[in-house]
Amino acid sequence: MKPESHIQQSGRPFTGKEFLASMNDGREVYYAGEHVENVTEHPAFRNAALTIASMYDALHNPETKDKLCWETDTGSGGYTHKFFRYARSPQELLEQRDAVAEWARMSYGWMGRTADYKAAFGDVLGANAEYYGDFADNARSWYKRIQENCLYLNHAIVNPPIDRNKSSDEVKDVYIHITKETDAGIYVTGAKVVATNLVLTHYNFIGQAAVQEIGDDPDMALLAITPMNAKGLKLISRVSYEKNATDTSSPFDYPLSSRFDENDAILILEDVFIPWEDVLIYKDKAKLTQWINAAGFGRLYPLQACTRFAVKLDFLAGLLEQALECTGAIDFRNVSAELGDVVAWRNLFWSITDHMCLASQEWKSGAYLPPVESAFNYRAFAPVAYDKIYHIIKTTAASGLIYLPGSNLDLKNENLDTLLSRYCRSSGDIPHTQRIKVMKLLWDAIGSEFGGRHHLYELNYSGTADAVRLQCLGAARGMGTMKQMRELSEKCMSEYDVDGWKTPVLS
Ligand SMILES: Cc1cc2nc3c(=O)[nH]c(=O)nc-3n(C[C@H](O)[C@H](O)[C@H](O)COP(=O)(O)OP(=O)(O)OC[C@H]3O[C@@H](n4cnc5c(N)ncnc54)[C@H](O)[C@@H]3O)c2cc1C
Repeated sequence: MKPESHIQQSGRPFTGKEFLASMNDGREVYYAGEHVENVTEHPAFRNAALTIASMYDALHNPETKDKLCWETDTGSGGYTHKFFRYARSPQELLEQRDAVAEWARMSYGWMGRTADYKAAFGDVLGANAEYYGDFADNARSWYKRIQENCLYLNHAIVNPPIDRNKSSDEVKDVYIHITKETDAGIYVTGAKVVATNLVLTHYNFIGQAAVQEIGDDPDMALLAITPMNAKGLKLISRVSYEKNATDTSSPFDYPLSSRFDENDAILILEDVFIPWEDVLIYKDKAKLTQWINAAGFGRLYPLQACTRFAVKLDFLAGLLEQALECTGAIDFRNVSAELGDVVAWRNLFWSITDHMCLASQEWKSGAYLPPVESAFNYRAFAPVAYDKIYHIIKTTAASGLIYLPGSNLDLKNENLDTLLSRYCRSSGDIPHTQRIKVMKLLWDAIGSEFGGRHHLYELNYSGTADAVRLQCLGAARGMGTMKQMRELSEKCMSEYDVDGWKTPVLS
């Protein structure tokens, strides 16, 4: 196994080529029962890796660099993706939002857990290092490292869906916990539910979601970072939609599955050693359960999450209009109204990102963070919107999504192509190949296994619907806004009683 130092320390972001090389580090990844030698060359991950590499290349390309990058604040004299350095004004947050959107458009919104997702974590490590008490210097050091190289961290905070009906100490054989402590660091064992795209990341971020039950066992209270090639860290990948698509068909048939599949994998740590320099919270349950909000991550990550979601909705709205033109249903008033609904959802999420930036507040170390309310607006409504849009597409494009030849080869067969040009023609003068192309793309977005996974993903992106809404309510109570709302309804009722008006305005 190569030492961790393969992850460059050059003071600038990786190029695409360097990124690909950095993934070939002896990490223990399994696919379909076999150990994967080099993830960037394996058909399960290759195109996704190349897409991420192209995002790193964009940081150096003169045509995109200025939109994506600004100088570091670490004294390195280098540059970094804008979201990897914390913002010091609402205007800087807006610039970060636009940089996130620029990267997201490179996958048309379909790869969201790109390196900029966890950049929000790096940012608040720098702005609020004090939160980590004795480990504050670790936080400062990681802020610098993550920023200067645009390191790619994954995010693993949810316990596996096993024995949810039991207390956590009864599931200690599965849940992440500390097994040993030495002068050099700690040893950790257990598993986490899938962490998206972790096969193609540099580091694993391991922690606990605020809603995770960890009982009073201090061994379960941990927040740390570990390299993906750490000894004892194993990944068992889910089925690769990329591999299935590329093995059996062409890009024309599965244009999204075959290149934007962020593989989710089961993460297992077996006595993984984590040096003290990479530990951030240790056996401190109070700090761990408050972490997501108190440390700042909970307010900042939704800016990246909502922006990539808005880009995805741009894509879906545009594609749905094209699909409805192909079937001719666009001319029906009710169908156009449904498309208008998709556009309204899209507008809403872009507006939320505006609010996140323009109504941001100064926080710690001069950093600006989005307001709590807009973070919750995104988290509560994105699953609702995606569910609704999913339904709109299936009920307006309807059988158009399935009235399709199975393969690009059907179009290359002269006889079949002639038949398809008649029986699979579009409304208006759109060529039949274009209709088939549009519909296959839309099917891949919402109907293929890749599309189904995206539906599941958006519904659970930042917790179950109950958890998100309860947190939203809890925040309103905690911040006093619920009290203000009650005061308004109580004032109304104070203006009358069983004897009539009590307000001087009415008599
Ligand atoms: C495609 C995909 C990618 C993901 N990527 C990541 C990732 O990168 N990193 C990461 O950390 N996580 C990831 N996750 C996990 C995701 O964050 C969780 O799915 C989400 O937080 C919901 O938790 P859960 O799946 O454990 O559901 P559960 O918490 O098990 O909930 C299941 C149901 O049980 C109910 N329920 C749960 N507990 C209780 C209770 N005590 N009382 C009453 N009802 C209860 C819930 O309301 C819900 O209806 C991913 C998930 C998916 C599907």
